[in-house]
Amino acid sequence: MSRVFNFSAGPAALPESVLQRAQAECADFRGAGMSVMEMSHRGKIFMEVAEKAERDLRALLNVPDDYAVLFLQGGATGQFAAVPLNLQPGGQAMDYLDTGAWSGKAIKEAQKYGPVNIVASSQSHGYASIPDSSTWKLDPGAAYVHYTPNETIGGVEFHFVPETGDVPLVADMSSTILSRPIDVARYGVIYAGAQKNIGPAGLTVVIVRRDLMERKSAGVPAVLDYALQVKNDSMYNTPPTFAWYLAGLVFEWLMEQGGLAGMAQVNERKARKLYHFVDNSEFYRNPVEPSARSWMNVPFILADDALDGSFLKQAEEAGLSGLKGHRSVGGMRASIYNAVSEAAVDALIEFMADFEQRHA
Ligand SMILES: *Cc1c(COP(=O)(O)O)cnc(C)c1O
Repeated sequence: MSRVFNFSAGPAALPESVLQRAQAECADFRGAGMSVMEMSHRGKIFMEVAEKAERDLRALLNVPDDYAVLFLQGGATGQFAAVPLNLQPGGQAMDYLDTGAWSGKAIKEAQKYGPVNIVASSQSHGYASIPDSSTWKLDPGAAYVHYTPNETIGGVEFHFVPETGDVPLVADMSSTILSRPIDVARYGVIYAGAQKNIGPAGLTVVIVRRDLMERKSAGVPAVLDYALQVKNDSMYNTPPTFAWYLAGLVFEWLMEQGGLAGMAQVNERKARKLYHFVDNSEFYRNPVEPSARSWMNVPFILADDALDGSFLKQAEEAGLSGLKGHRSVGGMRASIYNAVSEAAVDALIEFMADFEQRHA
């Protein structure tokens, strides 16, 4: 078997040991005579898988009891609608921080459901920084404050939790969840599409403070209805069973790595190495303000963009995959999620240094 170093932004790398275990368990799942994909989600075997995954995720994130954990479908994009539908029944304003492409999409969706107040925007700075919190215009009467802790495309990350007083804080953690410990109690709702740091595409994890579930508007579709899904243990309709199972294997793997404190150490080291290399080169550049640089997504550009094509081609040949930047911004992007090892980052830096030497 030959596996490349995979820097894809999403769907992204999964731990090899997880894939091997899934392969070994595939055709005859734990003695059932069928795969996990072929059995009822309400049967005893799958219920155990589902419950263990939830238990492990709760342990990893230290989720307090007054929070429900949901395993849903529809992606983070589904949650862009679910959040206003569940949390803003009465036409109140909804506060949004505008820090890049994904918060922009969340804002656009929320505007369908009521008035959106842009608390602050870094658009005029090319989304390369986080607006200074002293300039934020929070509405104390807002239904909630939404932000995107890690902007996957811009490579901009909050290294602090916004202070919103009594207004519930909602976070799209798609590309940063499980990269480090967080204090769940600071949030009203946390949601994440699985395909970056949790498991395969098709699963969406939502963590919601239970008291917030009483707010919903009458028109919320059943699949997006937090209270209904909680009441039905995320099984109001058929859940994404395979993705749920695989996420559970990833949670076990994370525990073997020392949990989120262990991951944070490795992730910080990986990111620091790569930024250090880029900053000390005349050939590569990262445009993001140092205090807002992402641990998970590292965009960089070459001094001469005419070399982009050969950089990507030679990287592929060297076993480094998925480095092309998002189509909206160009350049390169290395996504270095939990399952991307430090050895992968070392190999990338070595390749970049070699390419620079040959082309500078
Ligand atoms: C990938 C991503 C999304 C989109 O997720 P889908 O599951 O495709 O809807 C939303 N927000 C962030 C921060 C992302 O990284």
